[in-house]
Amino acid sequence: LLQVSGVEKSFGDHHVLRDISFDVGAGTVTVIIGPSGSGKTTVLRTLNALDMADRGVISIGDESVDFGAEVGRSALARFRAQSGMVFQAHNLFPHKTAIQNVTEGPIVVQKRPKAEARAGAMRLLTQVGLAEKADQYPYELSGGQQQRVGIARALALKPKLMLFDEPTSALDPELVGEVLRVIRDLATEGWTMVIVTHEIRFAQQVADQVLFIDNGVVLERGTPKDVLVNPTVPRLRQFLHRIL
Ligand code: ATP
Repeated sequence: LLQVSGVEKSFGDHHVLRDISFDVGAGTVTVIIGPSGSGKTTVLRTLNALDMADRGVISIGDESVDFGAEVGRSALARFRAQSGMVFQAHNLFPHKTAIQNVTEGPIVVQKRPKAEARAGAMRLLTQVGLAEKADQYPYELSGGQQQRVGIARALALKPKLMLFDEPTSALDPELVGEVLRVIRDLATEGWTMVIVTHEIRFAQQVADQVLFIDNGVVLERGTPKDVLVNPTVPRLRQFLHRIL
């Protein structure tokens, strides 16, 4: 479903992504791990063209963008619509209720009828365990509940690919489990997902493949068993040793 080939990205003279290439099959879960500053978030942001890569080709489904060439506005919009992103935290509209946050995209971006959008949003809020919080504002919700609304909001646009950028790293420890449970359910339902996380045990449970990114390159790529249990690359062994 997703093909990433030769992606490079610099911020000024800082060469953050040197050569990123990998594939993600439909219905599979890819977890990206790596040291702080290695480029994980930037990889995710280029997949959604929130950051424009300098070079490289990314294809999601039938939409492909060659970042080394001129990219048209409508092609970029179609490409962006292929994926939905869940950020670390704090990305809900603060002046809108949970359900208004979820219906915003379908109504404004996809021009869906309001009643249909509301019905879809209620289904999604039920799925993430928040049906009874539909009319609450973000400040009335816990961090974990806000993240679950954020997940419902991304799902509402029915993207082919879901991207999660450290979805639990800003949460109190006791709220991490409820968010990971929702993501695990999505994996069971067959969503295609790319997840940046430091939750290694979670990665072992849900990932079909794990990428270890270090210094802007994919240093290791394989099954959770290969990458997390039997790592061969010294940098990866050091990294796992530090965080486990
Ligand atoms: P962490 O685990 O700490 O979130 P990461 O692996 O996700 O780290 P990135 O956020 O992708 O790392 O950042 C990679 C490098 O790019 C860092 O050195 C960061 O300072 C730099 N960087 C990221 N975004 C920008 C930006 N908009 N402008 C300038 N430099 C940036």
